[in-house]
Amino acid sequence: MSGLSLPIDGSGTANAANVLAPNASPMTLDGTNTWIVGRGETVAVVDPGPDDETHLSTVATRLADRTVEVVLLTHGHEDHSGGARRFAEMVDAPVRALDRTHVLGEEGLADGDGLTVGGVEIRVIGTPGHSFDSLCFWLPEDGALLTGDTILGRGTTVIAPDGDLADYLRSLDKLRTMAELAEAESLLPGHGPILPDPIGKLDEYITHRRQRLDQIRQAIRDGAKDAREIVEMVYAEVPRELWPAAEMSVAAQLNYLKSL
Ligand SMILES: [Zn+2]
Repeated sequence: MSGLSLPIDGSGTANAANVLAPNASPMTLDGTNTWIVGRGETVAVVDPGPDDETHLSTVATRLADRTVEVVLLTHGHEDHSGGARRFAEMVDAPVRALDRTHVLGEEGLADGDGLTVGGVEIRVIGTPGHSFDSLCFWLPEDGALLTGDTILGRGTTVIAPDGDLADYLRSLDKLRTMAELAEAESLLPGHGPILPDPIGKLDEYITHRRQRLDQIRQAIRDGAKDAREIVEMVYAEVPRELWPAAEMSVAAQLNYLKSL
C-alpha cells in the first residue's frame, strides 16, 4: 500500500487536499505536497513549495474564490518554503513558521500552538530532528497528521545538516505516543502518498533508525573510518545518487553516537 509510487495530486482527507508541486527528484520523491486545509470559504495553505511560479499560480487559482487566511510551514527547507513569500503576496496572507526568518507578519509558530481556520482546528506539534525547525500539524477532526519531512510517504527521511538525530528519535517517540492516544488515522507527508497506518509507519521508522545505528556501530567495528566508508558498507543497497544524502545521515548518526 504505502510502498506504491502513486501520484497523489488532489488526494486528501475531509479537510486537507493536496496540490503536488512539479519538483520531483530522488530527494523530493514525486514533488512537494502543498496542502490546502479547510473545506469552507477560508483555508490555510501548508507548505506552498518551491519558488515555482507555475505551481504557486496553480494553488492560488484553485483558491481564487476562497480566502487564504494563513500560510503555514512545516519547516524552512527550500522545497517547502521557497515559494512562501511569493505565494503570500499572491493571496495576501501572513506566513507562520517556527524559524522567524520565514515569518511574514506578526505571528510565528511553536509547539503547542493551536489555530482554527475556517472552522477547522489545527494543532501544532514541535518535531525537531529532520531540521531544527520541523513542525507537524494535527487535524483532530480528520485524525490526520501533516508530517512535512519528519515522515515521508515512501522510504525514510534524512537528518539534514540543520537537524539532530537525538531530537529526531524523541520526536518519533512523541508522535508514536500521540498517534496512539489520539487514534490517528492517516499521515499526510510533505512528499509521497498519504499513509493510512500511522502507528505502523512510526514503528517502522523507529525500528529502521535503531537498525541503522546498530549497522553503523558494526561498520565501525569492521574498520570503516569515515562517513563515506560507512555509507559504502551500510547503504550498499541504496541507489548511488542518494549516497550524498546517506553520508549526511551517517554524519548525523556519528554525532549522535559520540554524544552517548
Ligand atoms: Zn526538509
